[in-house]
Amino acid sequence: MPSSKPPIVWSNAIFFALINVAAFILVPLWGMMQGYSGWAWFFFVLFWVLNGMSITVGYHRLWAHHSFKARAPLRWILALFGAMALQNSILHWAARHRVHHRYVDDVTRDPHSIKAGFWHAHMGWMLRKWPTTEADFSRVKDLQKDPVVMWQHRHYWSLVWIMNLGVPLALGLLFGDVVGMLLLAGALRLALSHHFTFFINSLAHLWGRRPYSDENTAVDNPAVALLTWGEGYHNYHHAFQADYRNGVAWWQYDPSKWFINICAWCGLAYDRHKTPAFKIHRARLATQFRRLQHLAESTKVHETWRGALEREYQRFRETVNHWQEVQAKKVQTGRAAMSDRWLKTELRTSFKELEYRLKMQRRRLQVLAGELNQRVRSGLSPPPVSG
Ligand SMILES: [Zn+2]
Ligand SMILES: [Zn+2]
Repeated sequence: MPSSKPPIVWSNAIFFALINVAAFILVPLWGMMQGYSGWAWFFFVLFWVLNGMSITVGYHRLWAHHSFKARAPLRWILALFGAMALQNSILHWAARHRVHHRYVDDVTRDPHSIKAGFWHAHMGWMLRKWPTTEADFSRVKDLQKDPVVMWQHRHYWSLVWIMNLGVPLALGLLFGDVVGMLLLAGALRLALSHHFTFFINSLAHLWGRRPYSDENTAVDNPAVALLTWGEGYHNYHHAFQADYRNGVAWWQYDPSKWFINICAWCGLAYDRHKTPAFKIHRARLATQFRRLQHLAESTKVHETWRGALEREYQRFRETVNHWQEVQAKKVQTGRAAMSDRWLKTELRTSFKELEYRLKMQRRRLQVLAGELNQRVRSGLSPPPVSG
């Protein structure tokens, strides 16, 4: 971050102050004085979920990354409730997000680099005219051809007012709880929806583990996933941004992934992109090898341990090479593999075998890592020390 701070964006600063005061001071006060109707609570939850999904499923996984395709009704819903979430138009958001991925952690280019501090990554980046936050539309030429994206971009501010003020006001009049609806389905919903997605830029780059890549600050953390509609598996996401899942295992808490799956079952979403399992295992192993090799260099380790690690690495290289050969064969045979049942089965089982090999290797590596950690912790650096 440059030393001299750019001017404050007063419109954003005043807005954020007001909305947070309304949400976290007025909402409880009014609740204690007057209470809220069941309808105000219902629309608060409904809009909160729809805002969250519109950003994570729509803005992020559909438009910024093209990790799946969506039919028109779903695109319109995501564009409308995305405008309600007040995080700028899809075009602006996706342009900045692509820069974030491309230059992650570079304080001179990443719009919300965690290296400039938690507050800057969470909200500070929107409060001043940082040059890094200027949207570069040359990065979203594909989206400029999307009629839904361009319609939302052109009418963005009208949509923001209609969805944030008009809709809660109309519902309040309809259900006889105007103040309650404006406070819960308006203010609290918007403030919470903001922080839930802002945590992706702050907490998801700060607090957690890095199993798939240690080349950037993005981390995986189930607790952060709870606060970010499943985007807390951010280390995976930065490693495989084209995957529609962030929590890659079926049991990992990723409501955005489940929302996309439900839409797919209803026929509203299709072409969900999944990273091949082999590549996922490969990334985890490569990271683990890098860590162990680094640790082995800085710690006195037994020759046999070092030998075992080298052998494992050799096997890893062989498996990766073998996988590349099978992959090349798959490309080469192309359509023939699709129609020839035996060829198709041969390819599929080869991939499965290679995946299994990596899976088993991960287990062995965990044992090696456990032994090393135990020795480091207990201060036992057994002789003879390898050179
Ligand atoms: Zn990130
Ligand atoms: Zn992303």
